[in-house]
Amino acid sequence: MWQFSRLCQTFFLILFLHTSHHVAQPDSSHSILLMIFHPVPDYHMHTPRCNHAIGSVQEYADAAMRFGLKEIGMSDHSPMPGDYDKAWRMDRSAMPDYLGEVERVRDACKGVLDLRVGLEADFHPGTEGYVKEMIASYPWDYVIGSVHYIDDWAFDNPDTIDIWEQWNIEQAYCAYFDLVTRSAESRMFDIIGHPDLIKKFGHRPPENSVRVIKAEERMLQAVLASGAALEISSAGLRKPVGEIYPHKRIVERAASLGIPFAFGSDAHSPSEVGHGMEMCISLLTACGVREIASFKARKRIMRQITHA
Ligand code: ZN
Ligand code: FE
Ligand code: FE
Repeated sequence: MWQFSRLCQTFFLILFLHTSHHVAQPDSSHSILLMIFHPVPDYHMHTPRCNHAIGSVQEYADAAMRFGLKEIGMSDHSPMPGDYDKAWRMDRSAMPDYLGEVERVRDACKGVLDLRVGLEADFHPGTEGYVKEMIASYPWDYVIGSVHYIDDWAFDNPDTIDIWEQWNIEQAYCAYFDLVTRSAESRMFDIIGHPDLIKKFGHRPPENSVRVIKAEERMLQAVLASGAALEISSAGLRKPVGEIYPHKRIVERAASLGIPFAFGSDAHSPSEVGHGMEMCISLLTACGVREIASFKARKRIMRQITHA
């Protein structure tokens, strides 16, 4: 019996690999089982327009298809007003070109890969009017809201890592989570991006800090009330912290509150598409999460994580 079921498994595995054009050349660094059993969308990837990513949209789409994904979304760093973080994002003048390229590849991939048109917008107090206007200017499939600054400190930029010396780590974490809370309260975003990015370089508050746990809880309550999905991001695995965003404690609590999750690799190169998906999905399923968010025209649809 056991041998018979093994035989059936092998047969279907071979059948799948032969019939699916999605898995033409499996990348040896990724598990074949992952491609079959965890084809969740990867909604976080950039283009060279932000000045710190490489690869054409077609190259990201090709990488996704090789990896076995059925759905991805581009979400380049959005323009922001004035000089805000200017060197690390698209200029407003590049937006028509970005949208044109994504739409062209989306149309060319129809039937093989669903390519969603998204944006990673920043939440920074005082810029909400500009961001709202930009979001309203196009029929996005989804908008990710990310906090990259505390006041004028780009805390995730390696060039300003020295500023950490001026901060009490607990205070920095609380200031960060308070901003993410406000980003959810703004109701501007469909996905709350990399929700504990503050840990990127490995600065850690005291374990079980009551202040930090309370700030996390306020953030999660705001996300829950907003209806937005929380991003589970593999990007932290590639950073000094070496850990998924957000921390297991936050994933567990969000899961118990019933907050939906969306996956993002935060790929800045086609080679990073789908990176760490298996670990992120394992963490989610260990916390009892069975569904993952997908988006079209800013409507969230929940899908079974295990759909093949
Ligand atoms: Zn980036
Ligand atoms: Fe980001
Ligand atoms: Fe990003």
